[in-house]
Amino acid sequence: MKWTIGDVTVTKIVELEVTGGTRFLLPQATPEAILPIAWLRPHFADETGRLRMSIHSFVVQTPTQRIIVDTCLGNDKQNRRIPHWNDRDGPFLADLAEAGFPPESIDTVLCTHLHVDHVGWNTMMVDGRWVPTFPRARYLMGRTEYDHWSTIHDRPDMAHILADSVTPIVEAGLAAMVETTERICEEIRLVPSVGHTPGHVSVMIESRGEQAMITGDFMHHPCQIAHPEWATLADSDPEQGIETRRTMFADLADSPVLVIGTHFAGATAGRIVRDGDMYSLDSQEQRP
Ligand SMILES: [Zn+2]
Repeated sequence: MKWTIGDVTVTKIVELEVTGGTRFLLPQATPEAILPIAWLRPHFADETGRLRMSIHSFVVQTPTQRIIVDTCLGNDKQNRRIPHWNDRDGPFLADLAEAGFPPESIDTVLCTHLHVDHVGWNTMMVDGRWVPTFPRARYLMGRTEYDHWSTIHDRPDMAHILADSVTPIVEAGLAAMVETTERICEEIRLVPSVGHTPGHVSVMIESRGEQAMITGDFMHHPCQIAHPEWATLADSDPEQGIETRRTMFADLADSPVLVIGTHFAGATAGRIVRDGDMYSLDSQEQRP
């Protein structure tokens, strides 16, 4: 799946798609609450009101850079809280190469934040060691994000994630800490969208008068466009997350920005439009 924004292309590489089982993430998104939101079907919810979600990376190709945004779960990882996220043996790297992007061709890795499903393929297991999957890349990580997660000690799961997917990058000398408003290249800049995590960023793409935004996790599912007040249980600061969504949706609804969702299944992208006194996602033109 591919989108073109001026001179930039964005390609989605899927690691995992799921339907249902999202109660641990969005407890308010019950089938009874989802069914009335008709525009969520068929791409983002099924006929019984269960949410469809996806874990994927985006490869952003500009005239000068090949950037992979977020690196999913990875293979062979241990000590993950979700059972089937452990000991994975998926074809992600083969799929990435088949799409035209072998790991050595990636020159920038960009993590919107440092949660488990966004840093996994930063590293891979070779001869019993975690080594950088993208050996020629600069890995961009938020300074605020890195400082936060590397100094808290009440989240043993985050300690494991840093140890196998972040620290090896730092030790290999490939990490570059960036600010939440950093410009990456002429077409790409970061936009702070905090709440889900303290240093969370979204990725703005601008080329030849066209614009798109890769969301990261300031929202996890399009149902939050209809219900910005629905926080996920994974949010560091739920109130700030709600504020971020309200501000973002108000801005995006008055703009031509194509919103490309980091966990959106199916059509994955669309434009946020006003829908009475609410918002919805118009993904019509994006349907394959
Ligand atoms: Zn995520």
